[in-house]
Formats: sequence, C-alpha cells, structure tokens
Amino acid sequence: MRDSFERLKDKYPYYNETFDVEERIDLIMKKLQLFDKFKLLSGRHFSLWVTKPILRLKIPSLGMTDGPNGVAFHSSLKKNTKFPNSKCLSSTWNRELAKEYGIAIAKEVRASKRHILLAPGINIDRTPMNGRTFEYFSEDPYLTREIGSPFVEGIQSQRIGACLKHYVANNQETNRFTMNSVVDERTLHEIYLRAFRDIVLRSNPWVVMGSYNKINGIRGCAHKELLRDTLMDKWGFKGYVVTDWFATRGITKPEDCIKAGLSLEMPIPIAYKMFQLRKAYKQGKFTIEELDDVVRRLLRVMFYVGLFDNPESIPQGERNTTEIQNVARRIAEEGIILLKNENEILPLDIDEVKTIAVLGPNKAKKFGKLLYGGSAAVISPYEITPEEGLKKKLEGKVEFTEDRMIADYCIIFAGLDHSRGMDCESIDRDNFELPEEQIQLIKETVNINPNTIVVLLTGSPVPMIQWIDNVPAIVEAWYPGMEGGLAIADILFGDINPSGKLPITFPKELSDSPAHKSEKTFPGDGENVLYEEGLFVGYRHFDQQQIEPQFPFGYGLSYTSFEYSNLKLANNLISKDRPVTISIDLTNTGERAGSEIVQLYISANESPIIRPPKELKNFTKVHLEPSETKTVDLQVSLSDLIHYDSRIHNWTYGVGTYTVRIGSSSHDIKFETLVACKP
Ligand code: BGC
Repeated sequence: MRDSFERLKDKYPYYNETFDVEERIDLIMKKLQLFDKFKLLSGRHFSLWVTKPILRLKIPSLGMTDGPNGVAFHSSLKKNTKFPNSKCLSSTWNRELAKEYGIAIAKEVRASKRHILLAPGINIDRTPMNGRTFEYFSEDPYLTREIGSPFVEGIQSQRIGACLKHYVANNQETNRFTMNSVVDERTLHEIYLRAFRDIVLRSNPWVVMGSYNKINGIRGCAHKELLRDTLMDKWGFKGYVVTDWFATRGITKPEDCIKAGLSLEMPIPIAYKMFQLRKAYKQGKFTIEELDDVVRRLLRVMFYVGLFDNPESIPQGERNTTEIQNVARRIAEEGIILLKNENEILPLDIDEVKTIAVLGPNKAKKFGKLLYGGSAAVISPYEITPEEGLKKKLEGKVEFTEDRMIADYCIIFAGLDHSRGMDCESIDRDNFELPEEQIQLIKETVNINPNTIVVLLTGSPVPMIQWIDNVPAIVEAWYPGMEGGLAIADILFGDINPSGKLPITFPKELSDSPAHKSEKTFPGDGENVLYEEGLFVGYRHFDQQQIEPQFPFGYGLSYTSFEYSNLKLANNLISKDRPVTISIDLTNTGERAGSEIVQLYISANESPIIRPPKELKNFTKVHLEPSETKTVDLQVSLSDLIHYDSRIHNWTYGVGTYTVRIGSSSHDIKFETLVACKP
C-alpha cells in the first residue's frame, strides 16, 4: 500500500501529507476545471449519501451516514452499536461521557467506510410534540452546547467529521419541507442559534446542515444572512454547509445557494444542476471567488477526514466491540432518570423480592428497525429489551408471574415506540398522552397492586396527571439503546444508583408548554409558525409564567441524599478577564455511593431589557461515597452573562448585579448569592 501511495503522491502532489491543508487545497484548485467544481457540489445519483468522485484527478467520494444514536443502517448498510438516544445522553450531564460517545461512534463511522456523521442534532426543544425531540439534546442552549461540544470533539478526534443539524429553527415536523419559522432576531440568536454558535467557536465542527424550513421567509439552505454572514463571517466556520436531503426542492436560482455559502447539495443536484450552474455563472449571477469558496470548504473537510492521506496513517475505526458497547451501556446507566420514588420503594432488593409481574407494550420491544423513528434508526447486532435485562439479572432468584395480584411488584414498561406519530421523523407526535390502553393498564394495575413501578421508554415528555398520584415509582429510561435492558435492571435493583437529570421540562398538560398558545404558534397555519413566546422556551417559560411543571428542568432523584453547605465566593466582581468562582461543599448523607449534578443558574437584576428569570450557566457532576464531602467549584465568567441586542445586531452584556443560584434542579435551589458585573 505504501508504494502505491508514494506513486499517487508523485502524480498528485496534494496527496503529500507534509504540505499544509490550505496549500494542498490550492494544488487541487489549480487542476479543477469549471465543470469539475460544479460536479463536486452535489451528491452522486443513486447513492444518496456519497459525493461524486473526480476520477481523472483522483478525488475520491466523501461518504456520509446518519446518526445521532449510532451509525444508521439505511445509510451505512451495516449493523452497528445502538446507543441510547440523544435525550438519554444529555440526561447524563456528563461532558466526558459525551466525548467518549463521540469517539466510539466515530470509530464505527470509519469502520463503516464513511467520513461524516450527520449528527449531532442541535435544535432546541420548543415543544414536546416535535417528532424528533428524541434526537435533540435539550430545551436549553447551554446544556446543548455542553454536551454537543465534547461530542463533536470526540467524533473529530478520529478524523471523522461531525455535522451540526438542522440549521436553524427547525423545531417541528409538521409541514417540514415548507414551514416558515417566524422568529425575532434576539430569540433566534439567544435560543436557537446559540448552541450552534458556541459549538462552532469552541469545537470547530467540520459540517453544518441547512434545514428544510424557512427562517423568516428565506429557505434554510439559501439563507445568506444566517449562513454566509453569521456562521461563516461572524463565527469563523471553516467547514462546509450541506443541505438537508432534498432541502433545495423548489430552489431554481443556484446563485442564492452559492452566495449563501452552500457547498453540497444532497443527495442529488436540484438547484446545482450542471446546466443551471453554467447558465447562472455565464450571466454573472455569482463570481468565481464565491464558487471557489464553497468548493474549497468541501475539499478542506475531505483533507480533514484523511481522504488524501495514506490510509494507514489515519485512525482505522472498529465496530461492535465490547468497548464501544460498554459506552452505550454507561450512557444508559447515567442517563436513565428516577422521577418518583415514594417511600423508597426502589431499589428493589433481589434477596427479598420473590415474584414480579412485567407488563406493558415496551417490555419486549426492540426499537432497532429500518427507519423506525426516521433517519436516526440504528439496527444493532442485538438489543436487550427491559424484560430480557430483568430475566438475565433475576434468573434463579426471582420468579416472573402474569398474576398482578400475587406479584410482590408489578413493573410496567410503557411509553412511545418510534412509530409514526410516536417519536418519529417527518411527523409530529399525534397525541401528547400515552395511548389510552397504557393509561388503563397503569391505573388498573396499581389498583390491583399498589407496588407498581412505571418505567417509561420515550424520547420526549409524556403527561402523567391521570395516574401519577397513585403510582409510587416512575423511571424515565428514554430509548436506552442495545444494552438498555441491563441498565434498567441494574437501576431497578440498585446495582446502579440513578443520577440522570432532566434536560427538558415535563409539563403537566400540553397547554402549559410555551409553543401551545394557539394553532399559530404550533403547528402553524400551514405556512407560518409564529415563535411568539420569544425567549421563553422550556423552563424559561415555566419560570416566567409561574406554571408548576410535572417535573422541572434539571430534576432527577437518587437512592442517596446530598447536602449542600458552606457557600463561598472568592470575589464577587466579574470583569473581562476575571470570572468569579463559587464553591459549595457537597456531602453524601445517605448510605449508598451516588452522583449529584450541581447546577448553577444566573438571573440579571436591574436589566433594562427583559431577561429570562433564570438561565443555566454551569454544572458539574460529582461522585461521592457515603458520608464523603467534596468541595465543588463553579465559575461564572463574562461570557455567561451576555445577551443579544437586536439594536446593534450583536451580543452585549449588562453592567449591574446578577443573582447566582446553585441547586439540585432548576426548582430546587439551595443557595443564592449576588455577583456584580463591571466592564
Ligand atoms: C433528515 C436528516 C438526515 C437526512 C439524511 C433527512 O430527512 O432530516 O436529519 O440526516 O435526511 O438521511
């Protein structure tokens, strides 16, 4: 291989790895004819996830594959590790684990012979009805960034490109190809663009995917102001922009996309048809510099992923190894959330429980089916269902019965299932409630046997008002991936102490949710959807309207208890280069080891403009043995205080005082203190 690579290098100097990437791009650009450049701008017919090669110049195809919950089957044609869904990952609030996830998934991308993972999904949860809520991290831009950034870094450490999607204000599936998201400038930047921006600035993702929807009247993939002017010129994005698949349908002026900075139209040319490009270019509708820029961006990423390097010198990748599957398991163990645990009914004691009844439609459900849930569907070599997980754990120790009356405990695996209308791409959820038969099953079972535990497998919140008061224990397991059944069993029987916390508010009723004021605000009138709630998305809305949610953002229980004490503030003045550090002591006051996620929220006092009542700005996850105490330091810096000012079309910060709140959830605040911001 070495020899043939040496020969390649002699003939095509851009294969020389010792040159700098920009120099290598220059060398290719010199060889490209106009039609080569046009050819590079769209996908290869009939292959759906691959670009066109230029054989004459030995420019290979670049291959993409879907994520984010594993390497999707339909786009890789390979069975790969099915990781827990994105909500489960963000529920871990574990930055290191997000990075490990990125590394693990990237290895499988490489071993599946692809170069770009079409993930992570960075859209903000505006409504629990969005069919793709399960693919996104959070209703909060800060948490989205904190999980998204290390995920991207992990992926790209393997020389696989991460693709942030779907840029931007893509928050529903109803009329997804045509919908116009009407959103004011400040909200767009502060809520919907914020995580994209921060991840670009910190972690340099190589690809961004333009969305299907329009944003204030302009198509996502032709939005010059948001792509060229903001993403590229303001934030310094160096990679390429790809369309969502067929997102250019209906765009006939290629110059709109070229000028906006769109490098790649997938999966086939629509706006970038050769004759259209040629005509527009001849008519001077776009310049050679504009064309060269979009081509260079694509080539740049081809270099980053190693397409022109000696294949032996780039990370080789691997698939379905125990190590990778263990990452999937650890995400499930840390992402599953204990929502209710009256009288400490959980964890169950394996030595005391004699019989259990395992019920519900999700007890034996395998979620890994072709396109189940949409493009995120992963088919894995195996998938351990909740029932299988329990059977494995309890074999020979606990009896399984169908008789709910005689069972010591009934465990109901309820939830959604990724079918159309139930957490699925291309269609929003058809009902906020759980299916009626599940509600009846829960009510009936808890009537027969008060020792009933409900485990939800969903990718988005469901209401519980009809049954929550009677059910003593509730667990949100999300879609916990191929190892999920084992993680659930370990949590129910106490070998794992749950530590996940909600990345999204669970409302009592849908009408409590921010986007549900009227049809105009969701799902829109067929043409426009009005983001009238502005900044008040997720807990920002519940706080502002003082609506009691079922479970607040940041909430999750443990089998142990934690005590917060001894708040200290080294100084209370924040300025440009001077953050403040707030410290508290955290003690595990229970009898089991466990992890707590300490959260820091800020609120601006004396602000001349409206600000959300509180906003997450830091957190840390701390593991403690029983009786152990650790001092936890949390910093707040000037960049945490900024807000967007539409008058200057930029970020700014307000001088004055800010209240810093430290707590165990957005509602369970343990300490408050004041800091001041000076220029
Ligand atoms: C989805 C994208 C996905 C693409 C390629 C589209 O329908 O919206 O998220 O990456 O297909 O499969």
